[in-house]
Amino acid sequence: MTSREIRKQFLDFFASKGHLIVPSAPLVAKNDPTLMFNNSGMAQFKDFFLGNGTPPSKRIADTQKCLRVSGKHNDLEDVGFDTYHHTMFEMLGNWSFGDYFKKEALAWSWELLTEVYKLPKDRIYVSVFQGDEKDGVPFDQEAWDIWKAIVGEERIILGNKKDNFWEMGETGPCGPCSEIHIDLRDAEEVALKSGKELVNADHPQVVEIWNNVFMQFERMADGSLVPLPSKHVDTGMGFERLCMAIQGKQSNYDTDVFQGTIKLIADKAGKVYGQDKWTDISLRVIADHIRAIAFAIADGQLPSNNKAGYVIRRILRRAVRYGYTYLGFREPFLHSIVPLLSEQFDGVFPELISQQDFVAKVILEEENSFLRTLENGLKLLDKITVDLKANNQTVINGEQVFELNDTFGFPVDLTALIARENGLSIDEEGYKAALQAQKERSRKDASTSAEDWVILQEVDKIEFVGYDEFETVSSIVKYQKV
Ligand code: ATP
Ligand code: MG
Ligand code: MG
Ligand code: MG
Repeated sequence: MTSREIRKQFLDFFASKGHLIVPSAPLVAKNDPTLMFNNSGMAQFKDFFLGNGTPPSKRIADTQKCLRVSGKHNDLEDVGFDTYHHTMFEMLGNWSFGDYFKKEALAWSWELLTEVYKLPKDRIYVSVFQGDEKDGVPFDQEAWDIWKAIVGEERIILGNKKDNFWEMGETGPCGPCSEIHIDLRDAEEVALKSGKELVNADHPQVVEIWNNVFMQFERMADGSLVPLPSKHVDTGMGFERLCMAIQGKQSNYDTDVFQGTIKLIADKAGKVYGQDKWTDISLRVIADHIRAIAFAIADGQLPSNNKAGYVIRRILRRAVRYGYTYLGFREPFLHSIVPLLSEQFDGVFPELISQQDFVAKVILEEENSFLRTLENGLKLLDKITVDLKANNQTVINGEQVFELNDTFGFPVDLTALIARENGLSIDEEGYKAALQAQKERSRKDASTSAEDWVILQEVDKIEFVGYDEFETVSSIVKYQKV
């Protein structure tokens, strides 16, 4: 089954259960000061759960573009190194706003996975919230009973608050979750160790694919929980992980979601995927990052020097550096992947194909500008590394990290990444101090020039008025010289 079919089957399945299919919200969160990027399917429906507004239907499903590179969910450092965390990914989701609840949601998730997608039942494990007495939240007996009837007790895992309880914030809607995990290991390995023991253990082939959240309580300001008058379902399934499971692969990058991009980049670089560790990591990182960059720009977030724009610029520069160092790219290359992506998502996220040329142009300009300083920055970093090693030291000092950023455009996380590759680290505190010192300097410069300007204005103005006033002016000028 192709990824396109897998996505369509999900939406068709929930449409057949009475769900309205809606488009993804943009990657860049709008009208939500608490969120820079949409990082889950429910973000665009937050208001409905808070009782501010009415959803267009009590049952909704979609595929949401998500970006997890900042704040509560930051998976950036895992990307490319593991095989199942991306910066940008699609979260398939279905929602009930005060309509169906646990019984339907869990039964449908099982029906979809095992009957439509035909995933093997004996490779699936589910989790149920174990309760937390201290926090006053009960064991989720209801979910336990439902799963027991479907999969039997031996396939259920009890989960703690961290994995199995969802809260919107300090106060507000919250409730237990039930996650679905799948064991994709070879039969021989399964025979050696039960997959149940590997759930939530960061095993690359025993992965969480779906999370079902049941909003049934409201957390009050005094910490107490009260049942919500109407209960909601919020689910999220990682599309790329689902494709890995259905297509029988051991890595998200081996699915057709990424293989086209990886092949295109590898061909351009004259490399082959699957032969060398750092080539492979770089191909994965770039195949991942280009999606985040392209979709963010298509959704209106240009790379820039602050906030969300800087997040996108940092991701882009990481990708350029991997291409430069490990794949030998000396000329811009990222921009040329855009047409393939826009074709891949034609009809799913049409915003990419309709703005393809603009998106590619923005990326090309960014690549050009970073490539101008990249080589010299890397040379400096090489020299720093050699010097440190010669002196048996391992920490790049803050001034140097600052210089790499200020003069060569190396975002701090990029310097830290390269440092790590060389067995070094960076002095973050020292960097912050250097940054602060620079801010002070520019604040001083700015205030001096503002004062000068004010004084000159005074001089100009007063000079025109006559001699009497001139004395005052000279005293100002004198003061200025002091
Ligand atoms: P994990 O424990 O693997 O980091 P999560 O518990 O943080 O996942 P949820 O917030 O429950 O993830 O999101 C719902 C689903 O989205 C997950 O079950 C998973 O399939 C998928 N998902 C989460 N983070 C990522 C990511 N960075 N890349 C790809 N898919 C992801
Ligand atoms: Mg996570
Ligand atoms: Mg998890
Ligand atoms: Mg989860």
